[in-house]
Amino acid sequence: MSGARSEIPVTRSSMPDFVEYCQEIAGLWDSRMLTNMGAKHRQLQGELAQYLGAEHVDLLANGHMAIEMSLQALGLSGEVITTPFTFASTTHAIVRSGLEPVFCDVEPKNFTMNPQEIERHITKRTTAILPVHVYGALCDIKAIEKIAGQYGLKVIYDAAHAFGARYQGQGAGSFGDVSCFSFHATKVFHTVEGGCACFRDAEFGQRLARIKNFGLAGQESVEEAGGNGKLDEFRAAMGLCNLRHVQEQIAKRRRAAERYRERLLGVPGLQLAAEQKDVESNYAYFPVVFHPEEFGADRDEVLSCLESQGIRARKYFYPLTSAFGCYQGRFDSDKTPVAQGISRRVLTLPLYADLTLEDVDRVCDGVLKIKRRG
Ligand SMILES: *Cc1c(COP(=O)(O)O)cnc(C)c1O
Repeated sequence: MSGARSEIPVTRSSMPDFVEYCQEIAGLWDSRMLTNMGAKHRQLQGELAQYLGAEHVDLLANGHMAIEMSLQALGLSGEVITTPFTFASTTHAIVRSGLEPVFCDVEPKNFTMNPQEIERHITKRTTAILPVHVYGALCDIKAIEKIAGQYGLKVIYDAAHAFGARYQGQGAGSFGDVSCFSFHATKVFHTVEGGCACFRDAEFGQRLARIKNFGLAGQESVEEAGGNGKLDEFRAAMGLCNLRHVQEQIAKRRRAAERYRERLLGVPGLQLAAEQKDVESNYAYFPVVFHPEEFGADRDEVLSCLESQGIRARKYFYPLTSAFGCYQGRFDSDKTPVAQGISRRVLTLPLYADLTLEDVDRVCDGVLKIKRRG
């Protein structure tokens, strides 16, 4: 092949048809109801409840506010058991809510919270568990539910990676006291920016609805020190359009992910996420853990080698949230050795609905070429 080859980004936002979106928003020029829980907002909430398998859904301005405002609506105090192998948002939401994160290690196959490690972190001050579904794999929902029930703890799932994933046929929005989704532009389903909380308890829902709207309960009554977590009509409209195509988008991601597996599974020194029995993934990310002793090159070498071929991969998640500069000295990342090991060795490879199989092959060729050199 001659000439420079195009860059392969690590992710690429999906877009609905331009005309489809224009039709969806056209009515807003007449109604002038641009935000504050309008018709698009209500419609998207209903459709998402159906799709995610949730009894109730409340839309929020982004996934982060979904977590933060859910923590406030639950009225938690004390310690929250969580994972350091996540995006900044999860841990920051706990800290910004005046709660203390307690870091539990992850299991080595899917990088989600290891339920066998949870109990030893429970103290008199523990009030909740905040696990994260990682890359499209789901947590050990049954085991977490059992421990939470035994100790009377709330469970809030960070489900930012789990849109469309299912456990035993049930949508990821049906688990825990609350499941929080992100609709950021880079996620499997998006509203540009946005998010939602899925839950069962209607009373919790009333509190959350107030908290996201400045705590207002009526024209003259303010019952919570709330904030502004509302999702506007333009973004709800984007969601309505994207939701019509999300199943097809997941199917395309699946084809790309399967091609990656065909090419990379069993290569010495490469560890792929394990396929989970009973779980239907959404193929949100394609992580590869590089074990340098066997692979002959470490993660950082692979990253820069791919870069030089115009292929963007991402150190995701690195560093562990417990190692962030802003938390200097407060947490000991050595106490979650599995999470630390994965974080130092993992890359997520390009994956999005429009990624061609030809480009998947180019990425795989790029990775395998590095191995031969090693
Ligand atoms: C994207 C993401 C968030 C935050 O969602 P935003 O919509 O960007 O606020 C939280 N947790 C995880 C694991 C994420 O990937």
